[in-house]
Amino acid sequence: MKIKYLGTAAAEGIPAMFCHCENCENARKAGGRNIRTRSQTLIDDTLNIDFSADAFMHELKYGLNYADIRYYLFTHIHEDHFYPMDFNYMYHGLGHVPEGHPGYDIYGSPDILPGFRSLEHAADTSDYVRIHTLIPYETASVGKYWVTPLRSLHGTPNPFSYVISDGEKTILYLHDTGILPEASLSWLMDCGMRFDFVSFDCTGGNRDRLDYTSHLCFGDVLKYKGLFMEKGLIDGDTVLVLNHFSHNSPDVNYDDRGVYEAFGFIMSYDGMELTV
Ligand SMILES: [Zn+2]
Ligand SMILES: [Zn+2]
Ligand SMILES: [Zn+2]
Repeated sequence: MKIKYLGTAAAEGIPAMFCHCENCENARKAGGRNIRTRSQTLIDDTLNIDFSADAFMHELKYGLNYADIRYYLFTHIHEDHFYPMDFNYMYHGLGHVPEGHPGYDIYGSPDILPGFRSLEHAADTSDYVRIHTLIPYETASVGKYWVTPLRSLHGTPNPFSYVISDGEKTILYLHDTGILPEASLSWLMDCGMRFDFVSFDCTGGNRDRLDYTSHLCFGDVLKYKGLFMEKGLIDGDTVLVLNHFSHNSPDVNYDDRGVYEAFGFIMSYDGMELTV
């Protein structure tokens, strides 16, 4: 599986709009991989995870055409992950595609439904844009992938983290979440899986602990790494990525990556592509 990170920041981006903090000033000055846009990830050029207001810019920057991506999966409905307004342009008459185009399949918790219902052009959907609601801990077939939503702990009604498998490789995508709810942790402890790739929420950067519950920091991630190793969910060959960085946290510029690499983690950057 090929995992490409299109955007790797928390809600404000880095450098954040309206901000003169040290992380943002460093990013403005150094540029390159220190510049982070809002969250979006693409699996095998086929399965898109989250779609923020930066998605248009990602389409331009990475030479994509969303008309060629059929599957759209959502973790939760915070605006840095969910900007359904641009999906108006999927519909016939605004987005032009060749005859026989398969349309689009969109997946998430029931939280995504009001966003899609509010679309001006949603009335002509019939079966061209298909919205599927997922049930926590029930595996669904999404194209050639098996996708299992796990409940996250985050500030929206039904946020999901995901286990995504193509039958050969399996990834665990922990975004956005704080310390996992008990039901998700027990599901993981009992699933009997080995993950080839884990993407960790690291919004809190290089802190030991956070004084809020809806995200993780590196201290939390290290504890999960220890637990997952002990339970056989990951091993020395598993690729461990830190992602979704906030300018309000320490060591979130790509130039700070050494502090994480020392512990065997890869720090994400916009455009990073990894294959497992
Ligand atoms: Zn986010
Ligand atoms: Zn800032
Ligand atoms: Zn969020």
